[in-house]
Amino acid sequence: MRKIEDGTVIDHIPAWKADLVLRVLRLQRLAKSELDVSVAVLQNVVSGRLGRKDVIKVDRWRIDENEADILCLIFPTATINYIKSWKVFKYSPMVPDTIEGRIRCPELLCISNAEREPLTTMFYTLKTERMLQCRYCDTLLDFGKIPDFVRV
Ligand SMILES: [Zn+2]
Repeated sequence: MRKIEDGTVIDHIPAWKADLVLRVLRLQRLAKSELDVSVAVLQNVVSGRLGRKDVIKVDRWRIDENEADILCLIFPTATINYIKSWKVFKYSPMVPDTIEGRIRCPELLCISNAEREPLTTMFYTLKTERMLQCRYCDTLLDFGKIPDFVRV
């Protein structure tokens, strides 16, 4: 595995889930930018802790801390390291109390899904239940289902 000078390493992703991580991080949007970013994905590699795992290395891109928090909420085993001039800085994710705008409400009739004047979505995180609760319609969304409802 090639070392990176500046960027982000997302390690201890459950095996075969790297595509979901990429979806949550919306890295496709970088394709439209002029940024010189490269992504290396390793799947199903041997891990002492997890048996098998996926790893994603993003060269010359620092993943936003809010995105990192959402990621660790979906995949609690995931670890995030920022690399700066070859030095590794471990990021300690925090489960946010609320998440605004990043996730669609699964309830189609929710006011936040209204075609006219849709509202910015907002969810409360129910940490022990590992669920999100919509502020507007109380619909619950399991942390594990978040990738299906991330706005891309
Ligand atoms: Zn809702």
